[in-house]
Amino acid sequence: MKLLALLLLMLALVWLWRRGRRIAPPGAAKAPRLAPPQRMLACAACGTHVPACDAVAGRRGNYCCARHRREAEGE
Ligand SMILES: [Zn+2]
Repeated sequence: MKLLALLLLMLALVWLWRRGRRIAPPGAAKAPRLAPPQRMLACAACGTHVPACDAVAGRRGNYCCARHRREAEGE
């Protein structure tokens, strides 16, 4: 009977150990690093929103591409 209790205790310890490893795998607690939000600008010609770094600046506003700036400003 003592041997059976010891066996059950060992099984319980192994079960708890394996369950603990599954809940917190190494490195999983770290949140993925996200890029900071980008400012979006609307194209003055078609209204498409583009990131500010990709926008083409014109005299009458910002555009999504050089073709829309040409068409809107008549260059
Ligand atoms: Zn556009």
